[in-house]
Amino acid sequence: MAEQAGIRENVPLAPFTSIKVGGPADAVAVCTSFAGVTEALRWAADRNAPVAVVGKGSNLIVDDAGFRGLVIRLAGRLSSISVRGADTLWCGGGASLPRAVQRAATAGLTGLEFGASIPGTAGGAVAMNAGAYSSDLSQVLEWAVICDANGRRKVGRDDLAMGYRTTSVQGNEVVAAVGFRLAPGDPADIKTTLDGLRTHRRTTQPQGVRTFGSVFTNPEGDSSGRLIEAAGLKGFTLGGARISPVHANFIEAGKDCRAADVIALMDEARRRVRDAGGPVLHAEVRYLHPEWGIGAPPLAEIA
Ligand SMILES: Cc1cc2nc3c(=O)[nH]c(=O)nc-3n(C[C@H](O)[C@H](O)[C@H](O)COP(=O)(O)OP(=O)(O)OC[C@H]3O[C@@H](n4cnc5c(N)ncnc54)[C@H](O)[C@@H]3O)c2cc1C
Repeated sequence: MAEQAGIRENVPLAPFTSIKVGGPADAVAVCTSFAGVTEALRWAADRNAPVAVVGKGSNLIVDDAGFRGLVIRLAGRLSSISVRGADTLWCGGGASLPRAVQRAATAGLTGLEFGASIPGTAGGAVAMNAGAYSSDLSQVLEWAVICDANGRRKVGRDDLAMGYRTTSVQGNEVVAAVGFRLAPGDPADIKTTLDGLRTHRRTTQPQGVRTFGSVFTNPEGDSSGRLIEAAGLKGFTLGGARISPVHANFIEAGKDCRAADVIALMDEARRRVRDAGGPVLHAEVRYLHPEWGIGAPPLAEIA
């Protein structure tokens, strides 16, 4: 097992995330084939060990105590990208989404441009139904190969119950490969669109700092960034974490930031927005609990 799935023990997880906080995992398996993924999942199931799938960790807070289970990461063929036929982009679940966008652009395929600045993996982005600019992955996903401890199955988009930043993918399932159905487009037009979207990001979101993208989902008809800013929290700091002065729905990690600082700051933002008469905000970011695996962050109850 250790050789086939590339298992390592006591591995720091902070470097696998964009916010770079949190403790180590008991074990990490780097899987390069469908069979390797299933084998790693079976290894964990045999030991009753919890499992966490981690892509680029770009929407993930790892607890300061780390994780007493097996983290699965994808590499090799399962992070590759290729154009299949006239209009399909094949991506391993571990492939970088921005790289997939660039590959599609080079091949003159349009439809995935909105993902240019979403710094996750194709598998993580499908599992989260990531999106931007009124588009999301549900609009281009054609199929996904999902691995669990019993093997693999190919499912269609409609089998995944894809909603706003949510799907039916379970914590012990790995999106190991996906097929995006795109459309032929003019490479020059695609490039112009990509240049525009990237420039927009650079001017509206924090740059050169550790973040994990949107902290909270947007409530119906409003934006969490606007609500947090209106509550006077732009630039507000707790421990090593602060609400971004550039975009209030981002948390920036400073020196010595801990996961506990991030959670405390999320609690504070929710409480202040509520006290100001706003809605209860819901976390978009996922959280790796030391014993249970990935779920919602442990935020304080709020009325
Ligand atoms: C600067 C910045 C900008 C961002 N902008 C956006 C944006 O515009 N829109 C948006 O939607 N998000 C955005 N994000 C958040 C993030 O990039 C997306 O949510 C992305 O889809 C997460 O992918 P990941 O591979 O990093 O997943 P991770 O953060 O590693 O994991 C997130 C969740 O996906 C699961 N997961 C990961 N890989 C797999 C897999 N192969 N199979 C099954 N489950 C898996 C994890 O278990 C976890 O539950 C941004 C983040 C940053 C840092």
